[in-house]
Amino acid sequence: MTSTVTDPVRVRFAPSPTGYLHIGSARTVLFNWLLARKHGGTFILRIEDTDQARHVEDSVQKILDDLRWLGLTWDEGPQVGGDYGPYFQSKRLEIYNRYLQKLLESGHAYYALEMPQQLTALRDAAKAAKQSYKYVRPDPPPTIAEGEAARAAGRPVVVRFKMPAVDITVVDDILGPVTLPADQSEDFVIQKGDGYPTYHFACVVDDELMKITHVLRGQEHLINTTKHVALQRALGFATPHYAHLSVIFNMDGTKMSKRDKEKAAKEGRRPPEIDVHDFRVAGYLPETLVNYIALLGWSPGDDREFFNLDELTGVFGLDRVGKTNARFDREKLLSFNTTWATRLSPDRLLEAFKDFIRVSESPMRGTDDDLLREILRTCAGFRTFRQVEEKVRFLFLADNAIEYDPKAVQKVLAKNNGEGYTALSETLPRLRDLSAWTADAVEKLIHDVCEKKAVQMGAIAQPLRVAITGTTISPSIHDTLALLGRKRTLARVEKCLKGSQSLPHV
Ligand code: GLU
Repeated sequence: MTSTVTDPVRVRFAPSPTGYLHIGSARTVLFNWLLARKHGGTFILRIEDTDQARHVEDSVQKILDDLRWLGLTWDEGPQVGGDYGPYFQSKRLEIYNRYLQKLLESGHAYYALEMPQQLTALRDAAKAAKQSYKYVRPDPPPTIAEGEAARAAGRPVVVRFKMPAVDITVVDDILGPVTLPADQSEDFVIQKGDGYPTYHFACVVDDELMKITHVLRGQEHLINTTKHVALQRALGFATPHYAHLSVIFNMDGTKMSKRDKEKAAKEGRRPPEIDVHDFRVAGYLPETLVNYIALLGWSPGDDREFFNLDELTGVFGLDRVGKTNARFDREKLLSFNTTWATRLSPDRLLEAFKDFIRVSESPMRGTDDDLLREILRTCAGFRTFRQVEEKVRFLFLADNAIEYDPKAVQKVLAKNNGEGYTALSETLPRLRDLSAWTADAVEKLIHDVCEKKAVQMGAIAQPLRVAITGTTISPSIHDTLALLGRKRTLARVEKCLKGSQSLPHV
């Protein structure tokens, strides 16, 4: 943004509750939030719930919860109130109607009486003739009395805004001047047949009444902005600063959209994370996400990569927000998460881990804090909390419910005439005799066995690991045994040896 910010900054995030919080929207929130914080301004959350048909039941709750999780709290809006409410558009219909009347009476808007089928037929005809369709204003348009009568008679009457026949230019603070030529504009609907305002109308009225100074939103809205400016002019409203943020793409250049999830599900792949909630359930830290999305389209101007919200507030500015579309690099995100996990205090990490356990309905639910801390310690260096969960899943399974991975059984236990089973039966009596069951004592014991047999550590550790977890993945072998405890370890090793003939292997 090239202009200097002088007014008390009031910015807003205005989600429609038609789904959960997309990662791209989270970046929009973050930039708005940072702009407000940076300038001692106000960040407003407004729910644009006028599209009854596309409403998704629990989306408002989820959006609010995920925003709080990210640490992006709002100064005015749902749950916190404020002087410019209500902050749900569905509760503001009277307000919109007042402004609608003004536009009708001043001749800037008119009732349009066409039946939806008529418009569909016109659109189809234009398509068949390979022409683009444009609504043609009736001449003269219906009077207010005619519109009201038609509505009273039950016709699905809409109200359209008379788009002025002039070029409209908006100077976007990131993109520069953007013009909608007069011949490309058409009279658009501002009130739908169900009496609700359209997005354009409600958004313009609310931005004015909520005294919004800067509108930062995704580039998909750029096409709407000239409409909004025309409406503002007709209503005598101020035009806020506009800044449109670039689109976020996957690394392969496709748009990062929720359709990626549907596609993956169809192909039997694990769906990629797209919504903030997906990343939360997949075990990412909010610190990671905030940090990573800040760098999608914004740059600090030097090589520094790691920022928390406070640090971002210190250095953020729209002058460093670029026009070029951003690429979402999942590998980089994972590496950020690994680093962030090591940067956080043990208490903060535990708190984040518990949130993951709760939202992902993990089998670790109900585990006491001491054990959770121990788990985090033994898994240090992890990429995501989900990976931690995978590593310690064995702890939360009943001893008789271990599922053996046939490949692991083959490679580690059955191969070379049951070399692994032999190692296990040789180690078992030593484990039985171990006086103190600690990680250190277990480590020492395994070293001794290895030395005696003149084998590498893995020759003993891996068979033990497969015997007690069913897999080749767990924390270090001494931590694995210490976490599981003497009784359960011995029970699993004995059971594995007893079942050696029948364990699945390839
Ligand atoms: N409700 C709109 C959306 O979710 C808001 C767009 C805007 O910021 O004006 O896309």
